Amino acid sequence: MDSNKKLGINSICTHVGEVKDEQFKGAVSPIYLSSSYQFYDVDIKRYPRYFNTPNQEALCKKIAALEKTENALIFGSGMAAISTAMFAFLHKGDHVVLQQTLYGGTYNLVVEEFDKFGIEYSFTDSLNTDDFKKEIKSNTKVIFIETPSNPLLKIVDLKAVADLAKKHSIITMIDNTFASSINQTAVDFGIDIIVHSATKYMGGHSDILAGAIAASNEHTDKIWNVAKNFGGSLSDFTVWMLERSMKTMSLRVNHQNANAMKMAEYLEQNPNVDNVYYPGLRSHEDYELAKSQMKGFGGMLSFELQSDLDAMEFQRNLELIKPSMSLAGVESTVLSPTQTSHALLTPEERASQGIKDGLIRFSVGIEEVEDLIADIEQAIEKIKK
Ligand SMILES: *Cc1c(COP(=O)(O)O)cnc(C)c1O
Repeated sequence: MDSNKKLGINSICTHVGEVKDEQFKGAVSPIYLSSSYQFYDVDIKRYPRYFNTPNQEALCKKIAALEKTENALIFGSGMAAISTAMFAFLHKGDHVVLQQTLYGGTYNLVVEEFDKFGIEYSFTDSLNTDDFKKEIKSNTKVIFIETPSNPLLKIVDLKAVADLAKKHSIITMIDNTFASSINQTAVDFGIDIIVHSATKYMGGHSDILAGAIAASNEHTDKIWNVAKNFGGSLSDFTVWMLERSMKTMSLRVNHQNANAMKMAEYLEQNPNVDNVYYPGLRSHEDYELAKSQMKGFGGMLSFELQSDLDAMEFQRNLELIKPSMSLAGVESTVLSPTQTSHALLTPEERASQGIKDGLIRFSVGIEEVEDLIADIEQAIEKIKK
């Protein structure tokens, strides 16, 4: 189905961008695994690394429909998508402004690779629009944001940053992974390029590594020219799995939104918990901003136990919730940012970003909230003894 203009979100997730099974009339997309296609008398010369196999093209339509962009591209990982997007718009002598507190992999890409290519970069001091404005230079070509941020779920003002960038003819890129396509449509606020780790909410079952970019045809053409040289395409097996997963994305994410809200409220009133960071809580510093630009507050939150309770011991004693890296699966997971995503920062750098040693990041799954609460209560009881 291509006439997606009037379709609801679940219909888009389920139907847009399917490969029609003309031969056998099956209900789901057939998988085309060819890495070799006829070269003459064809409209398109297809090859998996050109991002144009039938399954790749179909899934791109679904992602573009969800992000309300003209086009999309899918990649072998979120980092393949992010690096390709950046290298498509940043050349020797250019400058990029990136927000403070980025996903660790993006941060590493910038500080470990950009010098080699002669690309200059600045990180903002904080997430206010003025912090971005301060870093803009005459050679700034890209502003890169990630909202809600990891792990404190701070919010960047999408419209204000997009307006600022437009004034200076700067391209804006957002890592929309934490919000997901369901909760945040960045083009509505003027953001140019949306990148995703599809490993997270698009995949949703902790069994796929993939990435995506959504943007206008003009911008995806530019990215494609770089993408085919870097070669970060996704295998058609995994493309098919991702299409399957995305059919339930809105159902999953909406349930995770509701669960995260309930868990945040529960944790906030728990006397053993010091602080809860969730943009859907009125106590969150960016609540009003989040409400104005997000359709749902997402499935991610963070919290600190009271300082006499050991965060690692707490996690070791959980029985249902899994202490695991990564996020956004149907199963609830927790982790310590100081030991994982933010392990490479010095304690001072972490402190300056408000990340305490006892902070626990919680990716809320689809389980019954009562079961999640019972698990947290039993783990706290055990470590109190
Ligand atoms: C996981 C993640 C990435 C990187 O994605 P991969 O699929 O692991 O390459 C980028 N940004 C955010 C916010 C993430 O959570």
